[in-house]
Amino acid sequence: MKHYDIIIVGAGASGLAAGICAGRNKADVLILERLSKPGKKITATGNGKCNIYSNRDDVEDIVNSRNKQIAADIYKSIPFERLVKFFDSIGIFTLEKNGYYYPVSLQASTVRDTLVKVALVSGCDIICDCEVKTISCDKGLYVVDNMFSCKKLIISAGGMARADFGTDGASFRLLSQFGIRPTKLFPALVGLTTDFKHSKVIDGVRHYAGVYLIVDGEEVFHEYGEVIFNKRGISGIPVMNSSGIAAQALELGKTVSLRISVLSQRDREKMLKSIWERLVEGGYTIEELLTGVANRKLVYALMLHMHIDPELRPSVDEGFKIAGHFIEKLCGFTLGVTGTMGFDNAQVTSGGIRLDEVDPNTMEHKDHNGLYITGECLDADFACGGNNLTFAWITGIRAGTYAAGGTIDSDIFY
Ligand SMILES: Cc1cc2nc3c(=O)[nH]c(=O)nc-3n(C[C@H](O)[C@H](O)[C@H](O)COP(=O)(O)OP(=O)(O)OC[C@H]3O[C@@H](n4cnc5c(N)ncnc54)[C@H](O)[C@@H]3O)c2cc1C
Repeated sequence: MKHYDIIIVGAGASGLAAGICAGRNKADVLILERLSKPGKKITATGNGKCNIYSNRDDVEDIVNSRNKQIAADIYKSIPFERLVKFFDSIGIFTLEKNGYYYPVSLQASTVRDTLVKVALVSGCDIICDCEVKTISCDKGLYVVDNMFSCKKLIISAGGMARADFGTDGASFRLLSQFGIRPTKLFPALVGLTTDFKHSKVIDGVRHYAGVYLIVDGEEVFHEYGEVIFNKRGISGIPVMNSSGIAAQALELGKTVSLRISVLSQRDREKMLKSIWERLVEGGYTIEELLTGVANRKLVYALMLHMHIDPELRPSVDEGFKIAGHFIEKLCGFTLGVTGTMGFDNAQVTSGGIRLDEVDPNTMEHKDHNGLYITGECLDADFACGGNNLTFAWITGIRAGTYAAGGTIDSDIFY
């Protein structure tokens, strides 16, 4: 049986960060990864550009967790400037665009490749195609799959979202071998399925819109941004950011809907004035009057929904009434939410190992000396914008550093 100081299960974002920090603190480290290459998910982040980290001071407002304050404290425990210095020190330089941070290469693959190279140079062994199935602990020594032993074990095997990236809940199966169990798990940052009958007509339509999540008649979330309609429902950043709350509400049997507003009141006034003038001028069908008030396919689908005949050549009064109703709909139409698009389509997992079970400084489990837990398998998920990776990096840096006997205040990497 081969012995290491530290074994890390999972070469994803937090596992690689942990490996680099442990290696730089002179520990003998092994990282085990079930897929044929490390960091596959990292290469898919930010649509292949990697929205790498974030600088938010309103973390409490953008996190879902049973322990929001602990989650926010961990997120803020390595200040943004120091996180940037950590990435500078490993050769990943970033640019900022509208508050979002990306590697200057705009290529997520360069982030993955750099992390892997630095981990190897820091002294980590990485073994791929190695799915960890069993962990046990005997007299303070952890044993992994009866093949490797270590003094410190770091579980960085991610959550349940996107099994195609290696994450199918293995973290929870492994930790349950020590009696450690997660809270209820939900897909989050995921599209929502809706009861809209004409979804096929608007498949692929993108639109800027205000998105309001309504649970049992009460507005619980709103955000403005680009939404994307598809055959089953709706996604896009504002919808994804609402999806964790929606999933939990549905689970509790609550009635969930989305109000989508593609027109502002200012646009509404302008459009109604123009429609009136053209009605007086004459010669327009309803469809022609409404062309351009929103995406053509969306206008058509809503006409079907409202039983409006697009070919109708109305009188001035009739036309103004129909168009007025239609414009009102664009200011806020309701879609019943029937579910989420599931873990296979989710970017993150909501729920996980409770944060009050781990030491927030070191990420070590309070009841299991030498067992550390990082990243998405912890009960903290955040809004889009680089926040989930930020949490993964920070928990990885903390676990790797402390497992190796270092301290986060040392100048070893920043
Ligand atoms: C498509 C997509 C885009 C995203 N974009 C962004 C973004 O731009 N910005 C952002 O902040 N967040 C983004 N996220 C979320 C972010 O990628 C994750 O929250 C983050 O990677 C979690 O890090 P982690 O270390 O916990 O786990 P992961 O990075 O998921 O790594 C876990 C690793 O463990 C391995 N593993 C699992 N089980 C085993 C086992 N039994 N044995 C060995 N290895 C195992 C897996 O193969 C995987 O490599 C995105 C997610 C997805 C799916």
